[in-house]
Amino acid sequence: MPANTKKTVRKRVRRRPNTKPSVIFLYLTCLIAASVVLYSTLFVRAYSSLSNPGGTDPVANNLPGHTDHSSGSDPRYKTYPNTGKTVATVLIDAGHGGMDGGKPTPGGILEKDLNLTIANKVGKYLNELNPQIEVKYIRTDDNVFWGSVESEDLDYRLAQQRETNADYFVSLHCNSYDGDPSVEGTVFFINPDDPVARELSEDFRDNMTSIGWAENYQIIDYELLQLVSMSDIHSILIELGYMTNASDLARLTDEEMQNKVAKAIAAAISDYIMENPDAPEFVNPKFRNGKPLKKKEDSSAASSQVSSQISSQTPAEAPQSETPDPAIPQTDGNTDASAADPNAQVPADTGAPADPNADPSLIDPNTGLPLQ
Ligand SMILES: [Zn+2]
Repeated sequence: MPANTKKTVRKRVRRRPNTKPSVIFLYLTCLIAASVVLYSTLFVRAYSSLSNPGGTDPVANNLPGHTDHSSGSDPRYKTYPNTGKTVATVLIDAGHGGMDGGKPTPGGILEKDLNLTIANKVGKYLNELNPQIEVKYIRTDDNVFWGSVESEDLDYRLAQQRETNADYFVSLHCNSYDGDPSVEGTVFFINPDDPVARELSEDFRDNMTSIGWAENYQIIDYELLQLVSMSDIHSILIELGYMTNASDLARLTDEEMQNKVAKAIAAAISDYIMENPDAPEFVNPKFRNGKPLKKKEDSSAASSQVSSQISSQTPAEAPQSETPDPAIPQTDGNTDASAADPNAQVPADTGAPADPNADPSLIDPNTGLPLQ
């Protein structure tokens, strides 16, 4: 059957040119389609990053649960996807609480309530921006675990820093100075031995300044503030503003500004953690587990001395440079000489001379700043 064979061969030969173009056409079609998708995605991302210099990730923004419902939101803040793992734990502290109301305003607003409102907002935004960060709180309402003794709540807060295995501690307060209603601005307190806390407080400042908040600010490395000086983790205490200053108080009590400042703080710590995965843990050279490391003659009293947080420092005049390496203050509670004098300079290391007229009850125990 030579004819049939020849026919078959011819057919096969003829079929090849018909098959090849269709495969190539299909291949090219797929290639073009893939290229279109790829370049469209790249273009959208490039355009988006140009539109949002802060680097908002459009993919992350589209994840469920990441929609920003806040008024006055800032699209520059990054959101991070939920990877199912925790990269850091942040412990948020709403200053005062319970019997301890902090400083009241003439209008009857208590500092503890403003602190709580803003602290809860910081936690909410931190959860929204970055599910990879675990958020824990010292308190989320006014039911607290300590009584009326001031040292109990400070001890509790320090103990929680350890028990929650937190990496970062952010304590939120509102300042007061009745002596001069023009005194205004934000004050960040950090441990002088913790460079990470300094970097982070600078990020807080930058974000807060960008929303018109911390234009007047100070970053104070202050060894007399128990919550930062005795801490085993990166700790920052933020005095958000002065309730005794009209413009500061207006911002502190305005819900839109509360949202803005809470989000600015949340974004700063979220970005810092993600951009500094190798940030070293804080090893406190002076305290461990709330106890002083160096044996002093009166080491048993060192803790309570620090917790008394004696200060002659006024936020308006506090030094911004590094303070000399301080010894644990070997002073008693009455050394708080100029606690009632907000114009006095901070003591270089051991505290100011004793002032028999000083009234320790006039000191904000969490900040060491004068209440009156
Ligand atoms: Zn306070």
